[in-house]
Amino acid sequence: MTETLLLLWLVGVLGLAVGSFLNVVIYRVPRGESLIRPGSHCPHCGTAVRPRHNVPVLGWLLLRGRCADCAAPISVRYPLVEAGTAALFVAIGARFGWSWELPAYLYLAAVAIALALIDLDVMRLPDRIVLPSYGVAVALLVPASLAAGEMGAVVRGLVAAVLLYAFYLVISFWGMGGGDVKLAPLLGFYLGWLGWDAVAIGAFAGFLIGGLVGAVLLALKLAGRKSRIPFGPYMLAGAFLAVFAGAPLGDWYSNLLLAPTPL
Ligand SMILES: [Zn+2]
Repeated sequence: MTETLLLLWLVGVLGLAVGSFLNVVIYRVPRGESLIRPGSHCPHCGTAVRPRHNVPVLGWLLLRGRCADCAAPISVRYPLVEAGTAALFVAIGARFGWSWELPAYLYLAAVAIALALIDLDVMRLPDRIVLPSYGVAVALLVPASLAAGEMGAVVRGLVAAVLLYAFYLVISFWGMGGGDVKLAPLLGFYLGWLGWDAVAIGAFAGFLIGGLVGAVLLALKLAGRKSRIPFGPYMLAGAFLAVFAGAPLGDWYSNLLLAPTPL
């Protein structure tokens, strides 16, 4: 029990720090800027952010959402991304516990937050983030399978990656973006590693969530029939639904099928 609490505390703090870095990624990657230089600065007056104001969430609260030098407003999205990353990391920590696959799924969580927000901002899923993630996913999940002494999950992940890629490639002829097609094998590998239930739920849930949100936006007249709605955030949300609910939902479904029929 204490070990679990320690883990949740550790991944929570890690999530705050990673979230702070993701804010830099979300702002700079679409602009083609370096992630390292220059250090964080106010986009309005250019003054470097002081270290104590760079502390996740607290820095923004301390400044009450305004630059210390020119008082330009700082978006509330910065502390929300930091807190949201910490919350997702804690959920992943609770789902996987101390395990070899924990780092792999924490990495996926970080990439998902960055990609979802960049897609909402600029309607793109940058290759600079998606393509290297193929390698990172394999490098993190192969050792997890080696530790478990069986490579079945890796093989299943690779097959699911190919299947999901082919599926998105086919529907891309009806308007799915190229970025979504390139994201599909990454999610396929991660979900396939968990099991076929997760692949099925992840692939289906993205369309379900996207359809529901689209219908609500249309009903509220926040979007027109011709509005382009980025699909990446829904693919990612669907994948995480499968990561968290995949196992229990799959069990429930197979129990339903295998349950003795009352006469
Ligand atoms: Zn400023």
